[in-house]
Amino acid sequence: LAVVRQVEPRIADAIAAELTAQRESLKLIASENYASPATLLAMGNWLSDKYAEGTIGRRFYAGCQHVDTIEAIAAEHARVLFGAPHAYLQPHSGIDANLVAFWAILAHRIESPTLDRIGARHVNDLTDADWATLRADLGQQRMLGMALDAGGHLTHGFRPNISGKMFHQQSYGVDPTTGLLDYDSLRATAREFRPLIIVGGYSAYPRRVNFALMREIADEVGATLLVDMAHFAGLVAGKVLTGDHDPVPHAHITTTTTHKTLRGPRGGMVLCQDEYAEHVDRGCPMVLGGPLPHVMAAKAVALAEARTDTFRDYAQRVVDNACALADGLLRRGNRLVTGGTDNHLILIDVTTHGLTGRQAEAALLDAGIVTNRNAIPNDPNGAWYTSGIRIGTPALTTRGLDATDMDQIAELITTTLHHTQPGADAGGNPSKAKYRLDAAIATKVAAEAGDL
Ligand code: PLP
Repeated sequence: LAVVRQVEPRIADAIAAELTAQRESLKLIASENYASPATLLAMGNWLSDKYAEGTIGRRFYAGCQHVDTIEAIAAEHARVLFGAPHAYLQPHSGIDANLVAFWAILAHRIESPTLDRIGARHVNDLTDADWATLRADLGQQRMLGMALDAGGHLTHGFRPNISGKMFHQQSYGVDPTTGLLDYDSLRATAREFRPLIIVGGYSAYPRRVNFALMREIADEVGATLLVDMAHFAGLVAGKVLTGDHDPVPHAHITTTTTHKTLRGPRGGMVLCQDEYAEHVDRGCPMVLGGPLPHVMAAKAVALAEARTDTFRDYAQRVVDNACALADGLLRRGNRLVTGGTDNHLILIDVTTHGLTGRQAEAALLDAGIVTNRNAIPNDPNGAWYTSGIRIGTPALTTRGLDATDMDQIAELITTTLHHTQPGADAGGNPSKAKYRLDAAIATKVAAEAGDL
């Protein structure tokens, strides 16, 4: 940091402060983790100075031989780890990986038949008239994804997101009483809606998903199954999610982030069946900016780590810890969406404490517990204030915390929520944003959280 400090001391200070904050608070954000020193070092170096648009061996710039080596090693690790025919390591993030997948599916469905029809081999051979037909076709395509308040992600067809604007969209959800994915209703909607793409995967669903069944539904209606495993890729890599719960053998295309349960650098990745490979590889420059060689190096290191027995043990402990934390919360009277968890995350319905998600998130932060507010199914408070708190165990498991610690954390969370009251706005109405947390409780909980 001394080198950074010489140039811009405020940045050096902010980096140091972030380290202190991460050390002193309990990182329970389900999508965060701690990457290894090897991963961080592979990323923080001169590889960042290299341009490498194109794919391995076919770049638009000279001098890319070392980037080729790095990208090929990362792709090899990904293919072996996940048993995927093809892996594309260039997406800069999970959202970018999904954009690559959307384009690949559109191109595969629409471009390929057009190319066949006119006997051409490459999109550059398409005429203006062909493109006019393609554009008309593109505007008709449909996407069916998991509803945001059921646990889906913005990019799964949520209207304000580009996915919900590019595609005619509908969503599937969960059973209102159990909170569990309703596959019958998904099948019925798919039959009626006839989507081009069915998106599986989630950001806030605390249960395992049957991807074999989702593929059966996709096949029945002639859809492409895209699974976004951003949240649980580490559990797939660690062989905790196998068989019907492993999306890779079932989905046509699987996308992921590399920084959540997978514990790599911030970034994305696309895995696909061979028939989509050519279109996926056109991700850059079709929808992505130039690849980040330093991040691909870090992805290769993290993927190598994920192939070890130590990582398998880690993945199992993530789930064991989530179950222990859920048990602890339930025993203390909290209401959890679906009644618990069997993956790495938990959704607490904080309305039983008389709070909105936003109030609960702020109070927990005062007490040194970092979480995020999250909508719950049919959320009465909407997507901004919400009624839920999402918590997860990937980061604390990396730090070595175990089931006993989880019980203590359940106690700290419950105590904090119990001592938090909604605040009132100037008119005396309960404000969805304001809250009052007893300062002595906040200090006590924060001290115990810091000790863990
Ligand atoms: N997909 C899912 C399921 C996610 O939960 C997230 C992030 O939270 C993303 C995609 C987006 O990832 P990124 O922030 O890397 O673009």
